[in-house]
Amino acid sequence: MEIRFLHELQQQENNYEKLLVKITTISEDDQIDRLIDEYAKLKEEYAVLSEKKAEIERGILQKKSQCRRLEESKSNYENLIYTPEINSVKKLETLEKQIDDVQKSIELEMDNIDVLRNSLNEVANQIVSVKKKMAFIKKKYETIKANKKEELNFLINEKENIKELIEDIKLNIDEDLYTEYVKMKERLTNPIAEISSRKCSGCNMELPAMDYEAVKLGNSLKCQNCGRILVFKKK
Ligand SMILES: [Zn+2]
Repeated sequence: MEIRFLHELQQQENNYEKLLVKITTISEDDQIDRLIDEYAKLKEEYAVLSEKKAEIERGILQKKSQCRRLEESKSNYENLIYTPEINSVKKLETLEKQIDDVQKSIELEMDNIDVLRNSLNEVANQIVSVKKKMAFIKKKYETIKANKKEELNFLINEKENIKELIEDIKLNIDEDLYTEYVKMKERLTNPIAEISSRKCSGCNMELPAMDYEAVKLGNSLKCQNCGRILVFKKK
């Protein structure tokens, strides 16, 4: 009977080890750190784009006021046509040439404004795309963080349960037997071996019929090949 408890103890100790590994793996997972890095990079990208956008907007404003100034000069020139100062064909031609030049400058500035507006649209689209990415990463980060916390809490709770279970099982095991088990554990993995298909599950050797029957009847025996304590698996 005690061998069964020992076998149960071994299984729970294995479960405990597995839980420890799982907890460590989850704790050391750097997915959250990677998301934080990714978010920081996007934030930088966003700052650069915003600065670029502001610069283009300033450029457009400058060009616009330049246009206004040019429009003013143009209308000043145009008003001159009807003044007495323009009293010769030559003067008129010169004035017309000046008006023409100003008009060309205005058109050039308008073209420049169009180019800037296109860049502005492009940058604005990039900003939207970066913002979308940031929102996605943030959501992912929050979800993963919450899940991780929940999973860790669950596993830690489970770990405590198994720890208590192990202590409870130990109460049913004779101290000498337990000491022997601990010693065996130092050189053997899973020193308590189930019999499966008449074989020792520790070393996979087939048991002599007599040993098999003896263990089946509940006697305590060791595998003649590997030395593990045999336990009969009840169906
Ligand atoms: Zn064996």
